[in-house]
This record gives sequence, C-alpha cells and structure tokens, in this order.
Amino acid sequence: MSAAASPLLDLADPTDVDALREALASQDPRSLLTPLGLRRLVVAPDASARVVPELSELLAARGTELEGARVVLLVDATPIQRAGRDLKDDVEAALRTAGALVERYVARDEHGEHAVGPLHADETALAAAATAVTGADAVVSVGGGTITDIGKVATARTGGAPLVVVQTAASVDGFTDDVSVVLASGVKKTIPSRWPDVVLGDLETVAGAPPQMAAAGYGELLSMFTAPADWYLAALTGLDETFHRAPVDLLAVVGRGLGDWSPGVVRGDPEAFEALTRALDVRGIATGVSGGTAVLSGVEHLVSHVLDMHHGATGQPIGLHGAQVGVASVVAAAAWELLFSRLADGGAARAAERLAVDPDGARERCRAAFGHLDADGALAAECGRRYELKLAELAVRRERLVAVLERWDEHSAVLRSLVRPSAELREGLRAAGVTAAFSDLVPPVDDGLARWAVASCHLMRERLVVVDLLDALGWWTPADVELCLSALEPQGVPA
Ligand SMILES: [Zn+2]
Repeated sequence: MSAAASPLLDLADPTDVDALREALASQDPRSLLTPLGLRRLVVAPDASARVVPELSELLAARGTELEGARVVLLVDATPIQRAGRDLKDDVEAALRTAGALVERYVARDEHGEHAVGPLHADETALAAAATAVTGADAVVSVGGGTITDIGKVATARTGGAPLVVVQTAASVDGFTDDVSVVLASGVKKTIPSRWPDVVLGDLETVAGAPPQMAAAGYGELLSMFTAPADWYLAALTGLDETFHRAPVDLLAVVGRGLGDWSPGVVRGDPEAFEALTRALDVRGIATGVSGGTAVLSGVEHLVSHVLDMHHGATGQPIGLHGAQVGVASVVAAAAWELLFSRLADGGAARAAERLAVDPDGARERCRAAFGHLDADGALAAECGRRYELKLAELAVRRERLVAVLERWDEHSAVLRSLVRPSAELREGLRAAGVTAAFSDLVPPVDDGLARWAVASCHLMRERLVVVDLLDALGWWTPADVELCLSALEPQGVPA
C-alpha cells in the first residue's frame, strides 16, 4: 500500500458528497470503486425541511417540476415525532403546499396491517411497495433503516424514480448505500438495490428516537475498527481481491474523536447524535463505493450472524443487529491482539510449520458446530459447503500464506493500524451506555452460547477473517476463545 497521504484523510466534511466524490476519484485512478451515486447528504437538526427544495432540484434536473408531480410518500405504521409534531404529516403538508400530488403509502409485510412488532423488508412488503411507487414521478421515504431499504428496492425495481430519504434514526448505516437488507425465507440477506438521490439526516428527529436505536447504531459503528483488517488479510492471502484503501481512509476520518463523543450518546447530547449519524452515513458510503460489505463486516458480523442462526432455529426473536455487533467487535479486536502477540518476537518465523488447512474436514466441523440447529441438518450442510470452499481456496494458496508470515513485520504494521485495542472498544461501549456483555443482549446470550458463537463464527461462510488464520495455526482452541471473550471483562487483557 502506498504511504502517500490521501486527500480523503484531509476532508473537512466527509458528508460533503461533491468534495468526497472528488477525493475518492483522486485515490482511484483505475476506477475500481463503485461510483458514488448519492447526490446530496444533509445531516442537520432541520434536514427534513429540505425535502421540497431537494426534490424540486432533482425534478428540475429531469426537466420537470414538483408542482403537479405525483409523489409517493413511503412510510411505515409507526408514528414518528419531531419536536412534538407528527413528522410524516409535516413532510406531506410541505409537499402539498408546493403543489405536489401526494399519495401516502404505508408499507406492510406478510403480517399485514395489524402486525405486532417491527416491519420487515420481506417479499410481501417489497412487492407491494413496488406496486405503490410504479409510475410515480418521485418517492420520498420517511423513517428508519427498514423503510429506507424497502424504498430503495421498490424504486430500483420500477425504473428508478428520484428518491429522497428522510433519515429519522441513527440505528444502521444502510441509509446511504446502494444495497438493502431484506428478509428472504426468514433469513436476513443483503441484496443490490440503488443509491438514494438525497439523504436528509434529521437530527432533531434522530435525538427523539427510542434510545435503543442509537445504542444499536453505536454498536454497529464499532465494526469499522475491526472489519477492515479482516478485509486486508483476505486480500493478502488472495481470497478477496477487492481491498481498496480509499473506503478504509474514509472510515478513519469519521473514526476520529470517537472517545470524546461516546459518553454523549447515553446523555443524549446533540453533538453525540450528530457525530453518530454522520459516522453511520459515511460508513454507508464506504460500503457502497467498496462494492461489497467486506469493508465493514468481519469477525464481529460473523458472530452476530451465528447468534441470529441460533435464535432463528430456536424460535426466538432475532436480536438487535447493532447491539450484537458491538459486543462481538470487542472479541474480534481481541482475536487480532491474540494473533499479533503470538506472531511477535520471532513467532511468525516459526508459525509456517504450524500451518494446517484441512478442506476435507470442513463439512464434519460444520456438522459438529451447527448440526443441532435444525432437524434435517440443512443449515450445517449449507455452512459446510461454504466453509469447505474457503479452506480449499486457502489450501491452494498455502505458499502465499507462508509468504505473508515471512513478511509479517511489514503486514502486521498495516493490520495493526486498522484495528483499535479491544479495551478501547469495550470502554467505548460502556461510556456510551451501550450493551457491553453478551448476557445483556436481547434475547440474552449466556456464557455457553457466547463461547459457541465465537468459536464457530468462521465456520459459517466463505469470507476469510482473522479467526481462520488463528485456526489454521492451531490457536483457536477453547482456551484461546476464552481468552478473547475475557476482553469483555474490565480486567481482561488478552495475552
Ligand atoms: Zn452490520
């Protein structure tokens, strides 16, 4: 990687999309990144007031105007308050005053109108929303991550009408990217959708959202301090060729000062909500331009996915994604610390002899780890197929892996720069008043379940992560897993 300073690191405001696009282009001479399709991102206390001017500008660029335009207002059934008023009513009124022909559409999933609990982006919801937006001159969505994902898929399926997103919670980073998280056969899946044209992060509304939203957002945020290292390791071993420095630099910009504003999350400080919202929105952009989710999804996400698999198989509700990711990020950072410490002081030179990659045993390991989850063993079989692929790829690249170990000093310097200390992440969660223990998650995850999820995380799919390297070196024993879990304890210092 080039040591030359990137203009991305000097961006005064990474939410200034035009400046950002220019800085990204300067760091991407071979045009490997996905072009940033977002035209404007506004994160401000009164961002929702910009719906009419932004939409007018979008329509003007298409040679039409807002007056007389058919605009679908896409919402869910949950009331959203802004400074004591109904935000959806206010947005609708502003559009009507500007002369738009507004049709409000309330999204419904397979549970229908009287569903208890949150809306899901299942096929019922996506298909019905797509019908509702068909023929619209523009779509405005108001709400959280799910309604935004539905709006992106529905408009992408029906010709890509201009889409303005009013962001009302700092819960996820999916507002500003070109993919959507949907529910397919009960399993969450990320699928390509589209960039919104404009995202308006309304901080007044974000600050009034239920506190567990920001808590989940903060937990999700922490993957930016662990996952990029997994992505880089996958590039070093040749299992993933998509690594690009630009999205990683972009994350570094919004990662600055995290410790300063973390305590403000639990206090409800406006500055903390602004920092959190901006960081999540820039994360979305980093994901979108990187062309995949690997930049922000490593060990911590695998642990969360394994917990989802368990909860789903045992008929429990799926836990809050960001909360699970936050706790697991501490363990992921500890796994890196374990690797760094074992490979230090000449350890890397001796490590090549320890390397053992066994594709033939992959399916059996997955059966042992996941076989109890369903009656027919389908989950274990699917994981086994994907894990076997990964080990087979790794086995043919054994020489490359040995070469990585031979130049470990050089590689570890880069990897260390991509991971924050586990203690810092743990204290960040505590300072922010966010779940910092598996046992505090909902549904709760007891010690045995946490141990299993962490020990098995790398067995679930083909994405290479630090745990795969530890495992190949014989350093993912129950005692090693325990060591990483101890990073969640205040006195825990992984050796
Ligand atoms: Zn996530």
